[in-house]
Amino acid sequence: MAIATINPATGETVKSFEPMSESEVQERIRVADAQWKQFRTVGFEQRAIWMRTAADLLEADIDQVAELMTMEMGKTLTSARGEASKCVKGLRFYADNAEAMLADEALPAGAGVVGASRAYTRYESLGVVLAVMPWNYPFWQVLRFAAPALMSGNVGLLKHASNVPQCALYIQNLFERSGFPEGCFQSLLISSAQVEGVLRDPRVAAATITGSEWAGRSVASICGDEIKPSVLELGGNDPFIVMPSADLESAVATAVTARTQNNGQSCIAAKRFLVHDAVYDQFTARFVEAMSALTVGDPLDEGTDVGPLATADGRDEVTELVDDAIGKGASILCGGRSLDLDGWYFPPTVIADISPDMRVNDEEVFGPVAMLHRIADIDDAIAVANSTPFGLGSSAWTNSPAEQDRFITEIAAGQVFINAMTTSFPELPFGGTKRSGYGRELSYHGLREFCNAKTVWVK
Ligand code: NDP
Repeated sequence: MAIATINPATGETVKSFEPMSESEVQERIRVADAQWKQFRTVGFEQRAIWMRTAADLLEADIDQVAELMTMEMGKTLTSARGEASKCVKGLRFYADNAEAMLADEALPAGAGVVGASRAYTRYESLGVVLAVMPWNYPFWQVLRFAAPALMSGNVGLLKHASNVPQCALYIQNLFERSGFPEGCFQSLLISSAQVEGVLRDPRVAAATITGSEWAGRSVASICGDEIKPSVLELGGNDPFIVMPSADLESAVATAVTARTQNNGQSCIAAKRFLVHDAVYDQFTARFVEAMSALTVGDPLDEGTDVGPLATADGRDEVTELVDDAIGKGASILCGGRSLDLDGWYFPPTVIADISPDMRVNDEEVFGPVAMLHRIADIDDAIAVANSTPFGLGSSAWTNSPAEQDRFITEIAAGQVFINAMTTSFPELPFGGTKRSGYGRELSYHGLREFCNAKTVWVK
């Protein structure tokens, strides 16, 4: 894939970049490794000053970075502004809280170790971490790695998706302007074929990847071979369950947002709508009406709800998955065909009469396409929710405490949201189970993924 900014709303190539040569990549790794040896000794207070400066600079640039995101990957300007604001909040959260969250960890009171005057765990940085990141949240995905990683004393190398090079360069520049020393955070403009060489370099300690299962498998197997830790945040096919006691109006409105946010290209978007028989017809009528009423168009227009998909390949993939379902007997309740416009537009689509042989059951549909399932009871809901190779997020709508408890306990996913859509918060862990990946980003867990939990025992 060429490294280039191609406007998804028009298909026009705005700017192309040459991939870095091997010697340029080597130089970046050398600088990163040399910097880490200094940076690891810098105190939390200084790191936090730089991190807060990054937040302030980003806040001042929100409109500019929002336009950049919209131009490179097609999200609406409104959602791009929201993403940039969330990044500002995330940077401040780790500036304010990393020191306490990474403090030396003593044993619980009364649980002393025999023979030791003191015994505790210290969290120390690992070194140079490679982040392979996707285009769908081109700022948030990167900064939710970078803020905890830098605050814990690691340094970062970013291999961003090839279609968002200007976002990648902006982020490197942001950290440089904030005062972080040279080499703390660098963008590598490289192809995915060049990732293996970076992962195998002995100076690179660990990796994190957000993206497809295939990319995740490749990064994980190389890290396994090199015995380096990795965090995988891969795809999802999240259930959105509606039970009879749910507030239907709120469930429908949230279902529309949960499926179409980011033009339908979110790993934690609700994709499968599992609706109880008692409310299925009512929910479906309202949901289809609301999905059909969304405005599809230029992502720069304030009135647009759904912009284009990020790439031509992505649009073709969504079309193939929907066509496969139609060919196997699914019913299209709205949308269903890509729009005959210059950009890569696919309209909000609702599919019913899903059967197990359809690809949409086992594969992630990365576009505004909702699959409806009629559910008989809570056992059926849990069984269908778990009948996917993925296990990222989930959302269940019910006002019955007993049903809420069952969903929280029995859904096999990294996250369960009750009466709300799945989202990520700087304060809470984020990640999946099964083929959605392993490890966690954000919170205590994310901060510690790239740390050596060093046991200290003092006689
Ligand atoms: P990819 O997984 O191909 O891209 C994500 C990142 O991984 C990019 O930086 C990409 O680089 C890189 N990459 C791709 N292949 C490899 C590899 N073998 N080794 C190392 N790095 C690699 O996602 P796509 O953009 O192609 O989207 C395909 C599907 O992936 C989507 O339809 C969706 O289902 C899923 N996806 C999930 C995301 C999530 O948030 N979990 C985000 C994006 C996609 P490059 O751009 O240069 O290829």
